[in-house]
Amino acid sequence: MAMNCNGSEIKMPEIKFTKLFINGHFLDSVSGKTFETRDPRTGDVITRVAEGDKADIDLAVNAARQAFDNGPWPRMSGYQRGRILMKLADLIDQHIEELASIDSLDGGKLLSHGKFLDIPGCANSLRYYAGAADKIHGDTLKMSGEFQAYTLKEPVGVVGHIIPWNYPSSMFFCKVAPALAAGCTMIVKPAEQTPLSALYYCHLAKLAGIPDGVINVVTGFGPTAGAALASHMDVDAVSFTGSTEVGRLIMEAAAKSNLKTVSLELGGKSPVLIFDDADVDMAVALAHTSIFTNKGEICVAGSRIYVQEGIYDEFVKKAVEKCKNWVVGDPFNPQVHQGPQVDKMQFERVLKYIDIGKKEGATLLTGGKPCGEKGYYIEPTIFTDVKDDMKIAQDEIFGPVMSLIKFKTIEEAIEKANSTKYGLAAGIVTKDLNTANRVSRSIRSGVIWINCYFAFDQDCPYGGYKMSGFGRDLGLNALDKYLQVKSVVTPIFGSPW
Ligand code: ADP
Repeated sequence: MAMNCNGSEIKMPEIKFTKLFINGHFLDSVSGKTFETRDPRTGDVITRVAEGDKADIDLAVNAARQAFDNGPWPRMSGYQRGRILMKLADLIDQHIEELASIDSLDGGKLLSHGKFLDIPGCANSLRYYAGAADKIHGDTLKMSGEFQAYTLKEPVGVVGHIIPWNYPSSMFFCKVAPALAAGCTMIVKPAEQTPLSALYYCHLAKLAGIPDGVINVVTGFGPTAGAALASHMDVDAVSFTGSTEVGRLIMEAAAKSNLKTVSLELGGKSPVLIFDDADVDMAVALAHTSIFTNKGEICVAGSRIYVQEGIYDEFVKKAVEKCKNWVVGDPFNPQVHQGPQVDKMQFERVLKYIDIGKKEGATLLTGGKPCGEKGYYIEPTIFTDVKDDMKIAQDEIFGPVMSLIKFKTIEEAIEKANSTKYGLAAGIVTKDLNTANRVSRSIRSGVIWINCYFAFDQDCPYGGYKMSGFGRDLGLNALDKYLQVKSVVTPIFGSPW
């Protein structure tokens, strides 16, 4: 039992589920192998988790296939599925504290964010898609000749979800909830850094009454378990969130196997454009939040901050000042703003980019160093004098590193904003409606936040342009990934043959 800075006890979660979940049962892996999952606050091992690979993926796909072809889930009414999803949502609400603390322990995420945002958001996502489950319908088509048709929306079948470690719970449900509502069965491959909460959700799913085989979770590594799922001949669709590099591998695997449908939510290098007419204090706060939230481990992080020349100097001064009051430390402590990077590899990768930034000639204004005696903590870091072609302005760092770039005109801002291979999100800070409208239509990205950032909602679709991927999570659009459209055609005046 640790203490937080108020002297009150920090309750560590008990880890109850560490085995694969296949066909409604927690199982060891076929190979009997396990792997360590570590606490990023210290680098210490939390527990060992079953290491699934191809053999376990085969078992899980077989279970999902049986559940799809012969089980009740795709056959029950949308209303019945919705009721079960509502029940799962209520069970999640009853375990918020425990689930949030598992993600904090496994991934270094702030406990307060888990408790008030991520985990309640998962329950609400289930409720949103529960409400949609009985409203999935096709169209009636007049057709041009002596025929008429209707379309049926049918579940796509067995789905593979491969998810990352930065939002273990939210990512799980932004994939699983719409796929369940659509009537699919599925296999989830959580990230090897954060496997624990996904297994807990399997336990809750069983309690809620989701039939065996509908949700299967195979913990393990990307090149083994993940690759086996992406290339499996009996998986109908794969939904992936992660790096652009791995997204390319997933697409290749799908193309080389059975041409399963693929949706990819990939990396980003999202710009925030701050215009001269902005309230500088508000803009500083928005930019700060956009990059330092969740220690910069967010695919939509505002990692390129473009500031118009009239307010640039004031902005820089205030941005640096703001970092002084930003507390880096134990994510279980409610006074802390930023926890540790997820693991040693990410920690070293971020520090390497900071080094590259210095060598490229950017000016390090604040931060740039690890902090704390142990664990993977990094100071909030700001570079100025960043040029668009520098690696720190082009590559996704996935850490608390802000790059500040000056611009003169709106045209220049738009050009700069579009100057990376990514197109996931963008922020605009201005009081001028015309500027906001013009810029939001000119930026090639899936989300535009005007005078706000990270304004997510179940109802608002989310996904990428360009090399940030394709397909949308959240909103009713997400259901499309898990549905097939079938056209049924009949003659109007009897068969012509
Ligand atoms: P990040 O760079 O954020 O760690 P990755 O793209 O490496 O993201 O990982 C996201 C997910 O993809 C994880 O679940 C990981 O295990 C999985 N993954 C990694 N490599 C592969 C692969 N070759 N095939 C399928 N999945 C993979």
